Amino acid sequence: MDLGQIAQYCYNLTTSYLRIENATSVISETQDAIKLTRRCFLDDIFPTWSPLNSEISFSYNGGKDCQALLLLYLSCIWEFFLLTLEHSLYDPKYHAFPLKELPTVFIDHEQTFSTLEEFVATSSKRYCLSLYESGRDNERDTSMADAFKKYLEVHPEMKAFVIGIRHTDPYAANLKAIQRTDANWPDFLRLQPFLHWKLANVWSFLIYSNEPICGLYGLGLTSIGSINNTLPNPHLKVDQDDKPNLMFQWEIEHAFSDSKDASGEAVNVSTVNAANLKLLNQPQDRYLPGWYLTDDSLERAGRIKKE
Ligand code: FAD
Repeated sequence: MDLGQIAQYCYNLTTSYLRIENATSVISETQDAIKLTRRCFLDDIFPTWSPLNSEISFSYNGGKDCQALLLLYLSCIWEFFLLTLEHSLYDPKYHAFPLKELPTVFIDHEQTFSTLEEFVATSSKRYCLSLYESGRDNERDTSMADAFKKYLEVHPEMKAFVIGIRHTDPYAANLKAIQRTDANWPDFLRLQPFLHWKLANVWSFLIYSNEPICGLYGLGLTSIGSINNTLPNPHLKVDQDDKPNLMFQWEIEHAFSDSKDASGEAVNVSTVNAANLKLLNQPQDRYLPGWYLTDDSLERAGRIKKE
């Protein structure tokens, strides 16, 4: 699929999710969350900073939050594209989609899991991202702010960055949907239309989407940081007598697909690299997949705090 096609696919996915009726309370809450994010993109952001002429870049690290937001961003870009054609005499199919790739930035400044890096690479292809990747070799351990400074030296045309941050993330309680960066950061606009999303909303929409998600979540991770500070979430450890209750069975059974013979049986996860599997899957402990945890206050319990 090219960028126009995947954007249209994400629009169909989002529309399909918004049309679900009388399913579960988490689905109706997530529908409200989607509507708010959509209004933020279409009413508040796109009229000033167009996603079609490279003024906006998307901050992408392969995690669940920015992947869910990316699906919505693409969906809204498709809607915005249709709006720009409103006065055209010709059907949308006769208009070429104006972008080939979506400007995206990944600050690869920490020792990340190879599975995550592989997922960033495969999902970048799927979503047609023109991924600027900092770090890797000689730039590891630079701060995120410095990495963005370098990015802006290469891309001075960028005015604003979309960020998949939520109010329940650390230091994010008072953030706003649109705001400038802090004084110790290079000056640009932060676009944060995902702040109101809860963990359960993210899982509901992602699982229904049927898009491959990073395989590390299947091993009990709920928040992926560096390889040195991330473990499976202890609240997902399985005891023998446990009868785990999954909040998203409906989403699995009715998962979105454009192919009629797709079977909604399991969550679609990417392959986990053998070295990461060994590192995280301690044989004495078993963990439920990350999507069994829906309490926002426990989301980072698998992250080892810095001394
Ligand atoms: P996550 O929950 O993993 O990340 C939240 C979101 O941040 C992700 O969905 C993704 O969109 C983005 N993100 C996280 N890590 C990366 C990465 N390695 N590469 C690309 N995107 C990533 N902090 C300040 O104190 N002041 C600022 O002015 C400020 N400006 C920022 C501007 C941008 C464009 C970004 C991406 C971050 C900025 N931050 C700033 C840091 C931000 O507030 C979060 O601390 C940071 O994104 C990590 O969030 P998290 O720990 O909640 O991780």
